[in-house]
Amino acid sequence: MCGVAITNDGGLRLTEPEAERHTAFCRLEHLVTWADHDGAWRPGALLDDDDTGEGLGRCVQCGDGLSYGRVLLVRHRGPLRIGDAFCGVEHAAAWASAGGRWRVSGS
Ligand SMILES: [Zn+2]
Ligand SMILES: [Zn+2]
Repeated sequence: MCGVAITNDGGLRLTEPEAERHTAFCRLEHLVTWADHDGAWRPGALLDDDDTGEGLGRCVQCGDGLSYGRVLLVRHRGPLRIGDAFCGVEHAAAWASAGGRWRVSGS
């Protein structure tokens, strides 16, 4: 959780749906810091009522199927919502520390 106020048009939300908790960051690097320090969560799953959080399928980092403990990272960019799923906070942090989806990619 950042100390910075996060508007609906920016920042990132990380949610663990089954634990019904979430947190938010102004930038991706802050997720890494937060995970390193075993950061705090806020109550609430952040998903729409009709969203089970299961639509994203596999961990972006390791490719494993998602099960209990999975987390969703949603980046807000204006009206856009860009979501990625991970098997757990550790892989979300590993992915974030590698630069997330904006890292240089050959594909
Ligand atoms: Zn921040
Ligand atoms: Zn994973």
